[in-house]
Parts: sequence; structure tokens; C-alpha cells
Amino acid sequence: MITPPRKRIETLPHQPTRVTAIYPGSFDPITNGHLDLIQRGSRLFDRLIVSILWNDAKEPLFSVEERIEMLREVVGVYPNVEVDSFHGLLVDHASAHSATVLLRGIRAISDYEYELQMALMNRRLRPAIETVFMMANEAYSFISSRLVKEVFSLGGDISGLVPPTVEARLQRRLAKVV
Ligand code: ADP
Repeated sequence: MITPPRKRIETLPHQPTRVTAIYPGSFDPITNGHLDLIQRGSRLFDRLIVSILWNDAKEPLFSVEERIEMLREVVGVYPNVEVDSFHGLLVDHASAHSATVLLRGIRAISDYEYELQMALMNRRLRPAIETVFMMANEAYSFISSRLVKEVFSLGGDISGLVPPTVEARLQRRLAKVV
């Protein structure tokens, strides 16, 4: 009797057994577009760390501490998602967490050019770290933190664009300003 050849299961060298991904950004504030990416990323990776960049060049509406609080309020339902912040190079932050993936979102062609430049620079700095792009959900692809803040400050309705806790915070922030 001829026995079929046994299938060989090979393990690639350097194949990580658990994949940690970093999702970096400003998240000023987190929108439902970001949240959609976090939800989908939490299914792809074993551990997903949402990391806020301390960027003195941008003038944020919310402090890093407030942004961390807002993020934690909404990502608490995903057990493998964490929130933190970082200074300096993203690849250094990723290495410090043994992360092998950088997660970014692409909404439109306009995002692509900047994202490509960043991905290639990060690859040059740390070739072992891969940038993974996820296409925005079509329902949220027009949403940006900047536009949400602008529309809200002009009295426009932003329900459905940001989590309710973020909308409440925006309301409190606006009440303080006017
Ligand atoms: P940054 O200042 O790094 O652009 P953002 O908070 O604006 O930070 O965005 C972080 C990441 O999330 C970027 O990759 C951006 O393209 C992505 N992103 C932002 N808004 C959306 C959205 N509505 N849908 C999908 N991805 C998004």
C-alpha cells in the first residue's frame, strides 16, 4: 500500500509567536474612525497598543493625559488593547514594547503620500518592523479629529462621529471657552 507523504509543517525562522502592534497618532480626540481601526486591529494582532505621540509642534485641544483617559474609556471593552504615550522615535517606542507592527489607517489618496513616506523612513530606521495599513471603513472615511473639532465649534452635529463620552467632553471644553 502506498502511504501519502506526510505534510511538513515548517516554522519560519524569526516568526513571532505573538504579534504586538502599535497604533500611533494624535487622537485629539479619538473619533469613530480611529475606534473602528482599533476594533479591527484587536482581531488581527495579539496585543494592540494605542500610543499618543507627545508632539509640542501641534497645539492640541486636549492634553495627552485627557486623550489617554478618553481612549481608555472607549477601548476598555477590548482585553488585548492598551493605551500609552511616547516621546521621540516611533520605532524606538515599538522596540521597547517588542512590537513588530505599526498600524496606520488610510482614508483617501491624500493620506497615502504622507503615510508612504513615514513607512519607508521607519523601515529604513528599523527594517524588522513592518507598517500595516488598513483601509478606513467607508462609513467613517471622511472623519478626522480636525474636522470634528471645527464642525463642533461652529455648532454642527457630531453625533455618530465620535464616541458619546468624547462628545460630552467636547461640550464641556467648548462651554469653558465661550
Ligand atoms: P496623526 O497626527 O498621526 O495623523 P491621527 O490621530 O490624526 O494622528 O491619526 C492616526 C492614524 O489614524 C493615521 O494613520 C490616520 O490615517 C488614521 N485615521 C484617522 N482618522 C481615521 C478614520 N476616520 N478612519 C480610519 N483611519 C483614520
